[in-house]
Amino acid sequence: MTKNKIKGQCHCGKVKFSINCELKELRRCNCSHCRRKGYVMTTVNKDEFNLDSGEDYLNIYQWNTKVAKHFFCKICGINTHNKRRTNPNAFGVNVGCLDGFDMSWIQNVSDFTNGQEFTLEDQKQGEASLQKK
Ligand SMILES: [Zn+2]
Repeated sequence: MTKNKIKGQCHCGKVKFSINCELKELRRCNCSHCRRKGYVMTTVNKDEFNLDSGEDYLNIYQWNTKVAKHFFCKICGINTHNKRRTNPNAFGVNVGCLDGFDMSWIQNVSDFTNGQEFTLEDQKQGEASLQKK
């Protein structure tokens, strides 16, 4: 796929970042949060990620165990990246935010099916009752 430095930003452009790596595996997670967002993520090491600007515009959404941090722009609401609960030395990056991103890149997406384990409790109950019908 693509190598070296790739720039990325939120929709309104207040939050800008860059990643310095090859795009690795693309993942789609089925946790209660990612499922709603519908985004496709890639994993980059902490030292391969740089927030270039817009720190003041970043907000953090946390839920459940509050270990994972989901960063999003306060203005446009786009989730640019997240700090994982499963790997504190890596960031998940929303590939749709990358400059020149081509939707055709999303062909081999692995499904991270353990995401449901991170689902909110009340929602698990909601889903359980939905399955009974
Ligand atoms: Zn924005």
